[in-house]
Amino acid sequence: MVRASSLAQSIRELMETVFDAVVVELAVADSSGIATLAGVRAAAPSVPVVVYTRELDDATAIRALRAGAHECLVKGDLPAGALARMLGFAIERQRRLATLEAARVDAAHRATHDPLTGLANRELFLDQLDRALAFGSRYNRKTGLLFVDLDGFKAINDTMGHAKGDALLRAVSARLLACMRRSDAVARLGGDEFVILLPDVTSRRDVSHVKDTILESLREAVTLTGDEALVVEASIGCAMSPLDGASAQDLLDAADADMYREKYERRRGRMLTPMAGMAVVGSDDEEAMEIADSVSHRRESRLRAAVAQGEFEVFYQPILDVVADRIVAAEALLRWRDPDRGLLSPSGFMALAEDTGLIVPIGDQVMRHACESIVAWRRDQSASALRVSVNLSAVQLREHGFAQHVAAILDETGCPPDALTLEVTENSTMVDGEMIMETLRALKGLGLRLVVDDFGVGHASLTFLREAPVDGIKIDRRFVSQLLLDQRDQAIVSSMVRLARGLGLDVVAEGVENGEQSQRLARLQCFEQQGRHFGEALPACEFAALLASRARMPITDVRSWRARRPEALGA
Ligand code: C2E
Ligand code: CA
Ligand code: CA
Repeated sequence: MVRASSLAQSIRELMETVFDAVVVELAVADSSGIATLAGVRAAAPSVPVVVYTRELDDATAIRALRAGAHECLVKGDLPAGALARMLGFAIERQRRLATLEAARVDAAHRATHDPLTGLANRELFLDQLDRALAFGSRYNRKTGLLFVDLDGFKAINDTMGHAKGDALLRAVSARLLACMRRSDAVARLGGDEFVILLPDVTSRRDVSHVKDTILESLREAVTLTGDEALVVEASIGCAMSPLDGASAQDLLDAADADMYREKYERRRGRMLTPMAGMAVVGSDDEEAMEIADSVSHRRESRLRAAVAQGEFEVFYQPILDVVADRIVAAEALLRWRDPDRGLLSPSGFMALAEDTGLIVPIGDQVMRHACESIVAWRRDQSASALRVSVNLSAVQLREHGFAQHVAAILDETGCPPDALTLEVTENSTMVDGEMIMETLRALKGLGLRLVVDDFGVGHASLTFLREAPVDGIKIDRRFVSQLLLDQRDQAIVSSMVRLARGLGLDVVAEGVENGEQSQRLARLQCFEQQGRHFGEALPACEFAALLASRARMPITDVRSWRARRPEALGA
């Protein structure tokens, strides 16, 4: 036991030694009242305190308890041994509080971290990514994302055992951490998938620089338990906001897709170009190919199952005529409601859907849904001229007999051909140009409309615009997003609009995110607009409710409608 005669001395003692408890007299040489207690608590916040003082009124006692005293006792009117007992209780209570607090901190950590590697888990990472993206969009910064997937991990796990597999994952996570700056975040999404967030990168070169660093550091053998050494290879996909996606999930999907592409290409490269003088029959290579095969196989079979189980949905985003302030059309946008991963945008799975040809049955479902929806919506007098746009992939366009197939869908659903617009990108018309042109003419012959999507970023020539049987262009959102910031983009948009008008084509702008962009576009004579400013893509029933509410209240804009959506939906 140490006795201190002043507050100053007690603070010095508390700083120097760890005590089990403190007994405080409030009136000391250099302090009095609650100030004495506050001084002691500040010096040792986690040491339990019992106030044991000469004089104590009820108000001071309550303040002392609020300030953290475990007990307040008045000297003189206590039976023998009471102080010792109170001190014992205070120490015990403090110990329990500390255990509880540790358990709470531990639970919070476990909820947000991967127990194996101690890295952030998916939830925490998505949260960090969301924050980085919000910061990036406010300050016009780019956010980089790397998706790391180990090659052949499953085989290692199967042949060497789970303990070795776990040790390998821990070793890889340490390597990844060693490559990072403090501001970067690393997470393990599960299995052998890791992700790295690079806030505030300036270009893709920054992102691929980190990628190279990681590949370099993984090239060095990992020593597992004992003296077994192992070299792991990884496939790394990159993505960068805002170009590859503006939301956390979109960016993650894009990096995942890029990783998949890399794995796929590497595998194909190995099969097609064995290095001179080296035969690709080594068991390593065969194994690697098999494993890469199983990765793409797994993804492919998941996608295939999704088609069979009807996990795809079609959302509709309004396209407005801003002069009339009316919804004139809707763009059908595909969504995958994956039971494990939630609602997914096409960016994450479109490459695979195209590679595997699954985009053909998927696109078929989208078109059917769009045609059925438009028929239903047009029954309402106020929406009798509404149109619906459907995106086409180059793979669909190259399908034999595609135009006849579309004709059958129109026929079966009773959709008037002029209600349907098909969006094709410039690039999809580049390969097999003449055959595609033939298909476009046949589609046009059905009486539907064709527009060139993402206009301005592809490689179509002006001649194509003149020759192809298209009715309009859709100005890519990349130009719209830069419209207010870059003079050159304004000039480009202005000339695209004039070019289209000169050729007698309609113009739509996509990706309109605020009122200023909308007004600037209108001033440049582009009146049909689409984007978050007017509303995100909605499930069909919500889109129908939106239409109905606008028919009743034509002046309301979609955004104020969105604020009242529950009421409009009759909820
Ligand atoms: P897209 O045709 O350029 O579609 C517009 C994309 O921009 C949509 O992304 C939409 O959600 C998003 N968007 C809407 N408003 C804004 C905005 O204000 N700002 C920004 N930055 N973006 C906005 P989504 O739905 O993820 O679709 C991505 C792409 O996937 C589409 O790009 C299209 O190329 C393709 N896609 C979507 N559905 C289908 C489909 O059914 N078939 C085919 N073949 N491709 C599809
Ligand atoms: Ca489109
Ligand atoms: Ca587009």
